[in-house]
Formats: sequence, structure tokens, C-alpha cells
Amino acid sequence: MSVIGIDFGNESCYVAVARAGGIETIANDYSLRATPSCVAFSGQNRLLGVAAHNQMVTNMKNTIHGFKRLLGRQYNDPHVQNEIKNLPFNVQNFQGQIGIKVNYMNEEQVFTPEQIAAMLFTKLKDTSEQALKSKVNDCVISVPSYFTNAERKALLDSAQIAGLNVLKLMNETTATALTYGIYKQDLPEVDDKPRNVIFVDCGHSSLQVSAVAFNKGKLKMLASASDPNLGGRDIDAILAEHFCKDFETRYKINARTNPRAYLRLRTEVEKLKKQMSANSTKLPMNIECFMDDKDVHGDMKRVDMEGLCAHLFHRVEMTLKKCLDDSKLRTEDIHSVEIVGGSTRIPSIKQLIEQIFGKTASTTLNQDEAVARGCALQCAILSPAVRVRDFSVTDLQNYPIKLVWDFSLKEDGECEVFPVNHPVPFSKMLTFYRKDTFNIKAFYNCDVPYPDKEIGQFVIKDVKPTPEGESSKIKIKARVNLHGIFAITSATLVEKKDNPEEESPMEVASPENGSAPASTESMDQSAPPENGEAPEAEDKDKKEKKKKSVTKTVELPIESYTHGFSQTLLNDYQEMECKMIANDKQEKERADARNALEEYVYDVRGKISDDDDLGAFIVPADREKYVKELDNMESWLYEEGEDCSRHVYVEKLQGLKLIGEPIKTRKIEFEHRNSALEELAQRI
Ligand code: ATP
Ligand code: MG
Repeated sequence: MSVIGIDFGNESCYVAVARAGGIETIANDYSLRATPSCVAFSGQNRLLGVAAHNQMVTNMKNTIHGFKRLLGRQYNDPHVQNEIKNLPFNVQNFQGQIGIKVNYMNEEQVFTPEQIAAMLFTKLKDTSEQALKSKVNDCVISVPSYFTNAERKALLDSAQIAGLNVLKLMNETTATALTYGIYKQDLPEVDDKPRNVIFVDCGHSSLQVSAVAFNKGKLKMLASASDPNLGGRDIDAILAEHFCKDFETRYKINARTNPRAYLRLRTEVEKLKKQMSANSTKLPMNIECFMDDKDVHGDMKRVDMEGLCAHLFHRVEMTLKKCLDDSKLRTEDIHSVEIVGGSTRIPSIKQLIEQIFGKTASTTLNQDEAVARGCALQCAILSPAVRVRDFSVTDLQNYPIKLVWDFSLKEDGECEVFPVNHPVPFSKMLTFYRKDTFNIKAFYNCDVPYPDKEIGQFVIKDVKPTPEGESSKIKIKARVNLHGIFAITSATLVEKKDNPEEESPMEVASPENGSAPASTESMDQSAPPENGEAPEAEDKDKKEKKKKSVTKTVELPIESYTHGFSQTLLNDYQEMECKMIANDKQEKERADARNALEEYVYDVRGKISDDDDLGAFIVPADREKYVKELDNMESWLYEEGEDCSRHVYVEKLQGLKLIGEPIKTRKIEFEHRNSALEELAQRI
């Protein structure tokens, strides 16, 4: 059993594996370490990753990309509307959800973004299984730190559809920080002042910055800031618009009206942008036969790009500053600034880093693979299957979470249960006094990059008054788990309180009507939880049980209304995915059988037409007949034999081999005889 880490990027994915010997990034079937986040559909099968990306220009309507940004969202979400404006495939309102409409197996089919992401995960799982020659289930998948509950749940759903067991959704910069820290031998001792490092990840579609404190064997996230809509693709869009205008004036063509030309332009400006990172002189951009049979030429200097994108770089500056402010670090407290992600190669971003943190950006880490490696390391730490060095990771809650109760009574029933930057995972206990079923709603207590601040509603059921008719004491556990997902995970009714010592000073006596809130208690105390599941929570539980040995507790059922698919829908999607996997496999076998037949025709025909090869081992009349048969087979393959089932190709190949193979055998026998004779002659 192997454990893997997946960096699920908006543009490309990386997979790393942790093995006893260390950490390794896996190459895919094209021997590339980056797998494009791209899924395509055709008449017979799906194309996943590199194969999908390679045919994008010729199959634009059925080649899906950019779906990471659609996960867990509704069709009417303004963010979704903004994203789909630029997508060349068909995205429609699918009963309020996002429906991606494609032509697959010669019919129209609609998939959710979560299903599409699952298809990519299927590919990544397959790539890892091929490379590792073993089954893969357990994984850690990266997630942007700014993802909300709904998006995190959606990603978990996708992984589940693909049959992956996610041990943790790990924030991208936290994964990078783990890659940095785990092998560092010179980190300060646990009780010494920590080493503070800033991590900046600017990728294809977003920017994330984190401040992290390291000591021997552990890291603690101090602060994180992000701009979810600022990455390399935004620069590409500005450059493409610049050239669209330029070509309109000089060539009288409007590339915006021609999706294929626009896609080619985006590819070319991206190349130009990358060249500009290394070169400040004027650089040319030529595209042959761009539109209306016209070749186009343009050029640009780095300083021109910087002028056009100044407002984007200003936003980079704001995000860097926000992280510094939130971390409460002085620049002299910062040891170094590590950069990862493709877009941090842009010189202006490096300059801003230097300006704000007073340190030159370091590239200690592999810029493209650090996230995947961190995820693989975390997976190994969490999994009993692989042994690696232990390293404690304490992440933080990116947005404050508040709970609201009895909202129907319009009372001031709310409390911020997790303030911003609170360590996670973490559990807190809250005490309520109630006589009847009651509701608790959870909200983000600040603006979030998601249209709905509501996280979910939790109904605590089967609450009964005490035998005396008073409100019962109810303890609920509110938790942000390893994935960064919030939920109310348990509710307990404390039935009898005979022991007066038990009353904690933190608890507030509740009025008789039972409508007022009571108190909160942290379950996880000051020490950060080790590697995820907070052991402190268990300790506290045990302590409580000891204290309340005279009381009886009853677990209460909780009905949760949160984001994510229902189990029934998940099962349906899982079944659909399995069918598509089986179909892809079948189609691959069919294509392989067709290729084998085609290859045989070319190979044998070439050799029997050569008198120095197989040609010498077949009589001329038979040769003529066999060549004709091979010619006919070739024509058949390109006409009615284009699209047959596997067994037809296999049978045809067997038919050809009945004649072809004996010729080959005669040649081999002749050669053996000759070499035996030569050997004999030499001996004599
Ligand atoms: P995200 O993290 O936003 O989900 P991702 O992880 O797929 O996306 P990366 O692979 O980190 O993104 O970065 C891809 C981006 O980096 C692309 O926009 C690409 O154009 C840009 N990029 C790569 N190399 C360079 C370079 N040398 N100069 C400028 N930009 C670059
Ligand atoms: Mg990335």
C-alpha cells in the first residue's frame, strides 16, 4: 500500500509519493511530472490529463479545464458567472447547480464540476498505481487556504467519487511549509525563539502568502493572506487583450470573436510572458495563419508588461502586506521568504517581496513540486503504512466562525466560536440549557470569497426537560477538523447533576426558559494538537467523565444541513465513474488491438517486399497474393474497419499471422542453420 500527495492546481497537478527511502514526484504516461488539470470527451472515450490538453485546440467544446474554481458553487454565483465568461465550453444552469454539457459517446451529457475533478483524480490515481505498481487509496490533497467549507466538501466529494480516501485536505502553503521544515536539521530547539519563514505561492489563478513559525519537529502557521483571483492567467488575459487591440488596428482582425484564434493567442502570450521573466529586452511574438489567413507579429518588453499589469502587482503588494501585518512579525524577525508556484518567477513579484519583507526571495524548494511533496509527507505522517520522521503541523482557521441559535426568537444568541487564525484542527464544547429540540446555525463571521456566509444548520434533537420540568444541560462539540471543515460533531444531554463541585466557573446559569446561551469551553488547550486529531480533546473528555461520574449522559442525534452531495448522489456518481473507467479501459484495449493489426500490416508488408528479408522465404506467387491481402486489410482499416470492436481486429490479425508467422519461422530457422554451419566450418 502506497500513500500519495496530490497538488491539485488550477492549471496542472503533481503527484508525490512517500516511501521509506524518501519523497519522490511521479511522472505520468507521457513521462511528464506535471499533469494538466484537463479532461476531454470524445465519441468513444475520455481523455485525461496530457492527452486532453494536447487536443484542446481541435476539440474546444469538449475539453474541460479551470474547474477547480467552480467546485462547491451554484450556477448563479457571480464568481461562477465571471469564470464561465472565459470558458470555451458549455456551462449551464443544471437545477441551480453548475452543469458542464459535453458530447460524449455521441450524445449530450451533463457533468458537475465535482465529477470532472473526480475524472482527473482517477487519472492521477492511475498514474500513481502504474508508477508504484501497487494499489493507491490513501492520499492528502492540497486545497487553497482561502477555500470555504462548501469548496472543501466538494473536493472531498470529488475524491470519494474517484475512490480516493483523503486523510487530509491540506492548505497549499502549509504543505509547502512542511516540505521546507521536515528535513531541516538546524531549526531552533522547541523552547527557543522560532524561525519565522514567509511562503509566497502565486500560481495560475491565485496568490497565497503565509507566515510560519518553525521549531525542531514542528511548525505553526501564524497568519495567511490570499487573493483568490490573482495569478498568471490574469496577466495572460491582460496581454491577450493588449494584442487583440493591437491586431485590430494593424491587421483589422478581432481575435475575441474567434475562440480558436483567441486560445492560440493566450498560448503565445503565456510563452512571451515566461520569456519576459528571464529577459528585459524587446521580445517578438509571431503567429502564423492566425485569422483570415493572416500571419501576425507583435512585440513587447518586460517594462511594457509591468505597466499594463501595474494594478495586479499593486494587489500582490497589498496581500504581502496583509500577511505581514496579521502575523505581527517585524521584518527583522523574519528568517527568509520562500517562493513557490509558477508566477513567482515574475521579477516584479520578487521585487515586491524584497521591498516588503526586506529579504531576497529564496528558492530553496522545488517551485513546482513543493506542494505535492508536502502533501505526500503529511500523508505518510498520518498513515500507519509508511514510516517517516514525525513532524507536528498546526494550521489555522482562515476565517472566524460564529454560531447563532434561537434566531427565530430574535435574541442575542450568538458567539464567535473560532476567531480568525485560531489553531486547527480544534474542538470546543458549548453548554446549553434547553427543554426541547433546538437549532444552531454556523456562519463565517467576516467577508469570505463565497456568496453564502452560512456554513450549515444543525438541529439537536430528542432534547427533553429534566424530571422536574427544568431545562436540561446539553453539551455540544463544535469542531474544525483536519480538512478545515466545520461541523457540530456531537451533542450530549447531561441527565443528572448530583455533585455540586462539578459546576465549572465558566458555565453561566441559564434562565428557566432555557432560551439563553450558556458558555463555551475549549477542548484543545494551549498546546497545539499533534498531527491533526486533537488528543487534548480526548483528555478533556476523560476528565469530564471522571468529574461527572455521578451523572448520566445521553448522546443526542444531530441533523446536519451543510454543503456537499447526499450519500445517494455520491453513490450514483461513483457508479457512473466506475462505468466510465471500464469503458475507457475497453476502448484502450480496442485501440491497442487496432494499432497492433495496423502495425503488423506495415511491418510484414515491408519485410516480404524485401528480397534480403522475409521476401526470400516466400514463393513469388504466394507473395503477390499475401501483399494484396495486406493491401486490402490496410484499406479496410481506414474504411469500414475504422471503428470495430476489439475481437474483430484480434481475429483479423490472427488470420494474417497464419501466413505471416510461418514465413518468419522459415527465416529464423534458416539463420540458425547458417550460423550452426558456420560454427561447424570453423571447428573443422
Ligand atoms: P493554482 O495554484 O492557481 O491553482 P497551479 O498550481 O496550476 O495553479 P502553477 O503551476 O504554480 O499553477 O503556475 C502556473 C502559472 O505560472 C501559469 O500561469 C504560468 O504561466 C506561470 N509561469 C510559469 N513559469 C513562469 C515564468 N517563468 N514566468 C512567469 N510566469 C510563469
Ligand atoms: Mg498551485
